[in-house]
Amino acid sequence: MTAPRLRITSSTAILSDAVRAAQMSTLSFGRTFTDHMVTIPYRDGAWQQGEVKAYGPLSLDPAASVLHYGQAIFEGFKAFAQPDGGVKTFRPEANAERFNRSARRLAMPDLPPDLFMEAADALIKLDQAWVPKNIGESLYLRPLMIATDPFLGVRPSHEYLFVLFASPAGAYFPQGVKPVTVWISEDYVRAAPGGTGEAKCAGNYAASLVAQAQAQEKGCDQVVWLDAVERRYIEEMGGMNLFFVYQEDGKTVVVTPELTGTLLPGITRRSLLDLARDLGYEASERKLTVQQWRDDIASGRMTEVFACGTAAVITPVGVAKANGFELSINNGQNGPVTMALRDALLAIQHGTTADRHNWMHAI
Ligand SMILES: *Cc1c(COP(=O)(O)O)cnc(C)c1O
Repeated sequence: MTAPRLRITSSTAILSDAVRAAQMSTLSFGRTFTDHMVTIPYRDGAWQQGEVKAYGPLSLDPAASVLHYGQAIFEGFKAFAQPDGGVKTFRPEANAERFNRSARRLAMPDLPPDLFMEAADALIKLDQAWVPKNIGESLYLRPLMIATDPFLGVRPSHEYLFVLFASPAGAYFPQGVKPVTVWISEDYVRAAPGGTGEAKCAGNYAASLVAQAQAQEKGCDQVVWLDAVERRYIEEMGGMNLFFVYQEDGKTVVVTPELTGTLLPGITRRSLLDLARDLGYEASERKLTVQQWRDDIASGRMTEVFACGTAAVITPVGVAKANGFELSINNGQNGPVTMALRDALLAIQHGTTADRHNWMHAI
């Protein structure tokens, strides 16, 4: 008999129902963690037996190459309580696939997608009591991989650690959905052609923080990234993809910047392109310049703008600012197309409508 790929050891410090309930009554995002986590080491050219065990600190050699040269990637997806009492994850296979695309870009080993899925299912099953029940709430899953080789030479590490843990997440907008104000950055870029913009790697976020701080100094919530070469084309907002809504000859058209290699291919983005068509809108991926954004707001053709990603689902954009101009979008209010798409996605995730695209994975 071969050993199981994951050895399960229950935590000896599982929180009592009362303590867990107290923690879950005041959920924000990313501060509370469940009882268990998964770790799978990679060495000698292969993934070794992994463990599902008590959540806790990792031990790393100070020479571990991730601490120096930054081979680190991550993912994010969610599990949702279903009306029948079960739990389902949203498109985890897509995250497993993107995880491997990120791994390849950083010269890291692939993790078999079925092992990624097995790890997630095992963790969620063990920590099922941590899946929040209310609409808008979820269990956020955070897979990551780091280079652990204790070696100071610059080359791909020979040893890695896959880690997966989970965090119950409250409604991203506890006071209700509210549009954000964005700063269109001309001073900083997120990703350049040939770079790592398509990969979900830690370094992309490290490099974005100073731009985010500048956006806040300008009185904005988030930064909007432009292409690195011409600084004209709109790419993304912070860690989210962007959508622009048009009303043209009685038709509703939703447009998102096309994937050029410098945008992160969001799974929410991809899902919303399908849902938009389900709702009877036209959906297209194309390049969009800042000048076009200004012109289309001025002419009234562009009626709404929103950002999307796993964590916040959909965030309306109410104001866009840059050096020398400011755009007001839909009078700074939530728009009807934005909210219809948001409701449609949440209904599938929470199992209150048919999952016609087979996006949900039962645990
Ligand atoms: C993760 C991420 C997104 C959104 O991707 P989803 O799969 O929808 O969560 C968008 N942009 C960046 C830069 C990201 O890192």
